[in-house]
Amino acid sequence: VETYRVRVTRKHPLAPGVMEIGLERPSDFQMQAGQKIRFHHRGLARDYTLINAPDEDQLVICAIQVPQGNFSPGLMQSPLGTVYEISKPFGYFTFQVSVRTAVFLATGTGIAPFVAFVRAGVRDFILLQGARSDEHLYYWSEMMAAARTYVPCLTRTAEDLQLVPETFQGRVTGYLETRLPVAGYDFYLCGSGAMVDAATRIIDRRFAGSLVYGESFF
Ligand SMILES: Cc1cc2nc3c(=O)[nH]c(=O)nc-3n(C[C@H](O)[C@H](O)[C@H](O)COP(=O)(O)OP(=O)(O)OC[C@H]3O[C@@H](n4cnc5c(N)ncnc54)[C@H](O)[C@@H]3O)c2cc1C
Repeated sequence: VETYRVRVTRKHPLAPGVMEIGLERPSDFQMQAGQKIRFHHRGLARDYTLINAPDEDQLVICAIQVPQGNFSPGLMQSPLGTVYEISKPFGYFTFQVSVRTAVFLATGTGIAPFVAFVRAGVRDFILLQGARSDEHLYYWSEMMAAARTYVPCLTRTAEDLQLVPETFQGRVTGYLETRLPVAGYDFYLCGSGAMVDAATRIIDRRFAGSLVYGESFF
């Protein structure tokens, strides 16, 4: 397996327990928006989706600290300059040009590939971004500016609805089930496996003629 050794170059908090982490970009690193890298660390292998534009001079990930996790707490606490071993970029969760409207569904850090898509120039999509509360709607203003339709979906109560306009109260799958106009779409689902599975079942029932791409983080 070919790997690179890269230094942590930047750390930028996005929300409690969530951080944007910059990594040196190896000189021969060729990537497509939506691809991920694998960290190899003390016998563990953990994948992270890159959010930087394909031609940026650093690599960037958006990482959440999983309490009691084996890898993510150390990553979050790593000082600048810490060296990690990473794989080449890989994976096929990339944007496919289509005659159908693209609908992106993201929960939590599952927004990552869609940030990469937007930074690679993808526009005119519908985005349903799910989170507990609006402080976890990472990148919402950048996403809202690029989307044809941006729908934040919050599972907590109305007190949280301060920052982001036009919020749907409920899960992304609730919006899919009750609000998204029936049509054939290209769906891109990213986040928990539970969301990807639940959304796929709703699409199979309600959105004939659609295509589904999925990426489960856990
Ligand atoms: C293709 C792919 C892309 C990924 N991209 C990202 C990314 O861009 N950003 C990111 O933060 N993570 C991402 N992950 C998840 C990441 O690889 C690790 O699973 C995560 O960091 C936890 O590792 P850990 O060793 O700390 O936890 P572990 O000791 O492995 O504990 C794992 C448990 O933590 C929970 N968990 C794992 N990931 C998450 C998460 N993202 N949000 C909430 N709960 C979680 C699950 O319940 C899981 O059972 C991705 C995973 C895959 C498979």
